[in-house]
Amino acid sequence: MSAKQDAYDAALAAAGTHARAWLSTLPTRAVPPSADADSLAAAVGGPLPEDGLDPGEVVELLARSAEPGLMAMPAGRFFGWVIGGTLPAALGADWLVSAWDQNAAMRYPTPATAALEEVAGAWILDLLGLPAGCDVGFVTGATMANFTGLAAARRHVLARRGWDVDFDGLFGAPRIRVLVGDERHDTLDLALRYLGLGAPTPIAADDQGRIRLDALAEALGSGSGEPTIVCLQAGNVHSGAFDAVGEAADLAHRHGAWVHVDGAFGLWAAAAPDLRHLVPGLDRADSWATDGHKTLNVPYDCGIVIVRDPAALRSAMGVEASYLIEPAGPGGPADPFEKVPELSRRARGVPVWAALRSLGRRGVAEMVSGFAANARRLAEGIAGIDGAEVLNDVVFTQVCATFGDDTRTAAVTRALLSEGRAWMSGSRWRGRTILRVSVSNWSTDTADVEESLAALRRAAAAA
Ligand SMILES: *Cc1c(COP(=O)(O)O)cnc(C)c1O
Repeated sequence: MSAKQDAYDAALAAAGTHARAWLSTLPTRAVPPSADADSLAAAVGGPLPEDGLDPGEVVELLARSAEPGLMAMPAGRFFGWVIGGTLPAALGADWLVSAWDQNAAMRYPTPATAALEEVAGAWILDLLGLPAGCDVGFVTGATMANFTGLAAARRHVLARRGWDVDFDGLFGAPRIRVLVGDERHDTLDLALRYLGLGAPTPIAADDQGRIRLDALAEALGSGSGEPTIVCLQAGNVHSGAFDAVGEAADLAHRHGAWVHVDGAFGLWAAAAPDLRHLVPGLDRADSWATDGHKTLNVPYDCGIVIVRDPAALRSAMGVEASYLIEPAGPGGPADPFEKVPELSRRARGVPVWAALRSLGRRGVAEMVSGFAANARRLAEGIAGIDGAEVLNDVVFTQVCATFGDDTRTAAVTRALLSEGRAWMSGSRWRGRTILRVSVSNWSTDTADVEESLAALRRAAAAA
């Protein structure tokens, strides 16, 4: 074997050994890390050494030094934020994506990754009940998926007013009105900032955080014909609630608005027959954003943008450079780079293909409805704890609870996290301090749910 091959083998063997060791500790280890970032930086830092280290030794050193600073996010007892685990097939595929090292920008030089992403995109449209002709782009996360969908929206609503944003920019353009629910995710505002659209106009939400249709109708009716974008939400990070997407979309379309749906984790409700009722009329929007790395359980660095009108997306995201032109000339299927902000990127759609192929249609449905079933079990268990109250209607994967006043709820959360058998994040919702539970991991089983409830009972007794 050549020295180059030996170097790869040593690095990959060490990575394989340590990855398997890490994964094998997940069912039993404490969830939180045991060291903080400053002490870890001291352990692996200092001035960059003059001399290098063999690849295998680098990976050994990395794995050993990082271990105390790892949070068991892929563990079945982790319910913080909205954090998916990693399906085994998706993890294996992710490793291959790195080994293949394809620049996934174009179809003709990297046909394997282009084909896998096209198939994954078509499967997603089918699973979510969205029109087969939509364009699908693989971006880094839902923040960028929202950005990308809204970039298509921005260009489209301005073009309809005769304004060419690509050439003339935004200065002097008709002001775009962006209507959002009061409880949209904060990163939607961030995406609007990237796009130079300023702060959106918030529309009142109901007690579950859903946009109120009467308030939306009133806001749409009070406009004076300005270009308008309406952002809806499928899956509120606190309550898990869904805006009435179809009805809201119809309303918005009557006023000529573009309708975008942030469904970072909730869009996947459409893939489960017993949850599909949460997203009636989902297919009537113009663009959708979701994550692969949340509900679908692929490794991090995977968001998905879907746009009904391929021309709207490709005109917003495509670039023309002579060195990129295909030998066959222009025309034909879009290149991957025409659907995302980046040019060079990893083939992050490949782990999506692997996740979907390993689960099958039935497996996706069972995984998503299993999350909701575990959320219901957790909610029932929490409601049985002395002084606890579940605040939201548990329709999907999210549970919000209090344990008395704000001070006590915060104390229960602290006690739970410091014991470390289970992890749920604290938050504030509707003016109250809460404990927030998000079920998003394929590996969470009944034993994990029971053990986590037991940990919560201990925390409540201690606080
Ligand atoms: C997580 C989340 C986002 C942001 O997604 P990233 O993948 O972290 O960029 C946006 N909207 C909602 C509803 C989310 O849950």
